[in-house]
Amino acid sequence: MLTTNPFDDDKLREECGIFGISGADTASASVALGLHALQHRGQEAAGITSWDGERFHTHRAMGHVAGNFDNDEVIRGLPGHSACGHVRYATTGETSLRNVQPLYADLASGGFAVAHNGNISNALRLRKELVRRGSIFQSTSDTEVIIHLVARSDYRTLLDRFIDALKQIEGAYALICMTPEGMIACRDPLGIRPLVMGRLGDSILFASETVAFDVVGAEFIRSVEPGELIVVPNGAKVEDIRIHRPFGETHARPCIFEHVYFSRPDSIVDGSSVYSVRKAIGAQLALENPVDADYVIPVPDSGVPAAIGYAQESGIPFELGIIRSHYIGRTFIQPGDKVRHLGVKLKHNANRALIKGKRIVLIDDSIVRGTTSLKIVQMMREAGAAEVHMRIASPPTKHSCFYGVDTPERTKLLAHKLDVGGMREFIQADSLSFLSIDGLYKALGEQHRADVHPQYCDACFTGDYPTTLTDYDESQVGDQLELLSERVV
Ligand code: SF4
Repeated sequence: MLTTNPFDDDKLREECGIFGISGADTASASVALGLHALQHRGQEAAGITSWDGERFHTHRAMGHVAGNFDNDEVIRGLPGHSACGHVRYATTGETSLRNVQPLYADLASGGFAVAHNGNISNALRLRKELVRRGSIFQSTSDTEVIIHLVARSDYRTLLDRFIDALKQIEGAYALICMTPEGMIACRDPLGIRPLVMGRLGDSILFASETVAFDVVGAEFIRSVEPGELIVVPNGAKVEDIRIHRPFGETHARPCIFEHVYFSRPDSIVDGSSVYSVRKAIGAQLALENPVDADYVIPVPDSGVPAAIGYAQESGIPFELGIIRSHYIGRTFIQPGDKVRHLGVKLKHNANRALIKGKRIVLIDDSIVRGTTSLKIVQMMREAGAAEVHMRIASPPTKHSCFYGVDTPERTKLLAHKLDVGGMREFIQADSLSFLSIDGLYKALGEQHRADVHPQYCDACFTGDYPTTLTDYDESQVGDQLELLSERVV
């Protein structure tokens, strides 16, 4: 397989998106549409579970939502007024199907389905203990730990058992669960992964991003607060939902990278328009890192809003110097080694007539391994650019994420290995600079980063992880990631 999407391959990758709807006539069809809008959060597998008042129904498949859930027969097999779904990034291969969510189990209290976005950072320790006590795991997913903790809890009601389970887990989670009594949505005490609530008539919806509400015609109500647990009994309207705060008051630290790259620009994340924040990031980048150039050129597609902000602030014209083909999938069977290098140009190509002889400033959201940045700079030079300057709309990515984001091991991150001068040499640009961490916070409407109690999780930039990482030791991050990959195969 030859990748034709080189500009997206060298990115941190959000591993999951979730969507749920309670009290709808066509619940599973709405979930399929919502998941389609969340496809960018996980492209390897998708699943939907519905509740018809008597039974749960589940369909899970490898691949995209389209192709698996645009089929009437599949949707008819998922009847009921409530449904939840999940898109996932995972290692490919049939053996991974057992890890595709929603996960489901028959508990003493009845059926229990769970869709999870995030990563439980003490899952390995909990799993070992559960196995020692006799639990038999069906998957290698960290999410299954939640089911076993609920099953083994000594509390009486399902809600108390669920809260008991949450109190034992560390890390990041946005969860949508279904029981015979109704739907439960919750977010970890720090709110690391996003979750929003919406309404469509009398139906109540939850999703990773508001864009999923737009496609089903629902109204965005608000974000689920960090540490908040919302119970939606079957048939409940918005005024009937029950709010719990099992962790008391918490200090929120949502993922700052949602604003930099993960979320779609047409989403509202924790009260802010992602598009507006990315433009503000670009403007701040221009203030901090000016350069004399003829054109501001975005690296498509993620660099576009920041490039608009950079161009508006600097007064340098915004132009499309890299053109993207919309008629090619993510991969393409490569016909032979001789044409392997041509693959990158199937999806993106330099706008040669524009670039030739010009000084350009390229705007990208981040640099991970740096291999993509090198290819882009080379592409611009081959197209005749006189100077190629690179400006990055975030600080250097120096640390791995343990909160549900696919990150290369730390030693493979370019910013971990090299200083900015070394990185510039590696990508062969005439100049390279990054947004400062305080500049990123400014673009989000803050004065600066509050170092004692930071307003966001920014650990991939600062190494300041907001939770304990029981299963991880950053100095051994390579080994730990191998351990993780064993879990998902
Ligand atoms: Fe987001 Fe980075 Fe924190 Fe991971 S480490 S949750 S990507 S800010």
